[in-house]
Amino acid sequence: MTAGAAFSLPALLGAWIDGRPCAGDGEQWPVFNPALGRPVSVLAESSASQVDAAVKAAVTAFERGPWPRASVEHRQGVLRAIQAQLLRHAEELAWLECQNTGIVLRELRQRHLPRAAANFGFFADYIGQSAGQVYRQTPGYTSTVVREPAGVAALISPWNAPVALSSMQIASAIAFGATCVVKPSEQSPLAVLRMVELMHEAGLPPGVVNLVNGRGPLTGEALVAHPDVRRVCFTGGTETGRHIMQTAAGHLAPCTLELGGKSANIVFESADLGRALDGALLGIFSNNGQQCLAGSRILVQRSVFDDFVERFVERARRLRIGDPMDEATELGPLASQAQLQRVLRYAALAREEGGRVLTGGAAIPALGPGFYAEPTAVLVPGNACRVAQDEIFGPFATLLPFDGVEDALAIANASRYGLVSYVWSDHLPTVTAMTEGLRTGVVWVNTPMTRELRAPFGGFKESGVGRQGGAACEAFFTEEKVVTVPIVPPVLRRLGGQ
Ligand code: NAD
Repeated sequence: MTAGAAFSLPALLGAWIDGRPCAGDGEQWPVFNPALGRPVSVLAESSASQVDAAVKAAVTAFERGPWPRASVEHRQGVLRAIQAQLLRHAEELAWLECQNTGIVLRELRQRHLPRAAANFGFFADYIGQSAGQVYRQTPGYTSTVVREPAGVAALISPWNAPVALSSMQIASAIAFGATCVVKPSEQSPLAVLRMVELMHEAGLPPGVVNLVNGRGPLTGEALVAHPDVRRVCFTGGTETGRHIMQTAAGHLAPCTLELGGKSANIVFESADLGRALDGALLGIFSNNGQQCLAGSRILVQRSVFDDFVERFVERARRLRIGDPMDEATELGPLASQAQLQRVLRYAALAREEGGRVLTGGAAIPALGPGFYAEPTAVLVPGNACRVAQDEIFGPFATLLPFDGVEDALAIANASRYGLVSYVWSDHLPTVTAMTEGLRTGVVWVNTPMTRELRAPFGGFKESGVGRQGGAACEAFFTEEKVVTVPIVPPVLRRLGGQ
């Protein structure tokens, strides 16, 4: 079944500043539909001066607007209204996101959009329960720690899950009273801009959420470098994150960076191998293989390696590839021509490095001009080769055998990344040894990705700085202030007195 084109695409996209749409004032760039391989809209970029206007709107809303001063009940009401509005328009947002990213519509409907709406509900609940601290240890004094919104936040997101990732950044910033300027990826602005519009229809005051569109080194750079930006929340590639942190250091704006990964999916002989196989396929091929937490290095215990790999390859070959709007599709196109070329280059590199491409490694011209790549599985000669070390960000799995827990840990941890890891085993001592030894921010045991919003999410090593989640976002988007009051007036030394 193919969903009908019941919604329309904007001909030209610009910015959203102070509660209103606003034409971009910079260069114009095509916005692609990756399934068609051609532009379907045009983005007018925001120049540095428009970025400045967006930040100024956020500063005004922060310093003089109602939002940072609103009661928790009021903010909760608006966040819940946004949640309801996003759910009412979920079909439209999923359609826009599908047109722009090639993510399969079914995944958008089942995972991304419910999650985007739930982010607002989650933070509405969270702010109703958060508490402060009181210290009474110093005799005669009470010191209270209060948290105040931090100011204007820059929220920068990538193209691989635009609405799901931007909604998390926005909900977590505004729930605590911050105001913000959002910059989606220049590749995938469609659904994020519509989401911001819907948030205003739901009752968000002007200036709290502003949005600029444009390329990273221009629009993004102007935003991060803006001296009035007090927080930078970035999701994207590791090299970009490194650069952003340096830029933000210029005015000492704290950053959270959710970056890349090359996560190990580790299958022991003691696992339920059928479930481990399902999990491994989901781990690398869902979201068209373009996700930070993909289980892209599949490590399998040697005793079951050959059998597991054979079944993995057989299933990968049977994946239904095609139109992401089609309910039956399991793998859509890659998000851009550049991403397709990247995957093809890594298939060639795998052969050069002595790897065996067991399946895939080519584009699929039979599917038309869209950016389709075959699901790819490569037997690598060792963990040190580049295809096992670099984040490829596509439907590209590397397969490698291991011998026992120590070997599995050594291979899994030999990576500059440390975002997530997956362990498949029903043997408790094995699971315990693995969860203790893995150097990643999240370890999923016998399950594919399952995000617990209450818990901190983020990476070790070059996968990130800081965490997202209830308490982690509260700490990041607020400043702590200590108010010390004497219980009885203290005796004061009378300087200069008689
Ligand atoms: P990217 O780093 O190229 O771009 C991300 C965003 O940063 C875009 O909006 C881009 O315009 C902007 N940007 C680029 N240069 C900038 C600059 N100098 N200043 C300010 N902004 C700038 O990443 P991408 O290719 O869009 O996304 C893929 C990457 O994102 C992958 O590495 C993936 O692992 C990572 N990712 C991480 C997570 C996570 O939670 N850890 C989630 C999703 C994606």
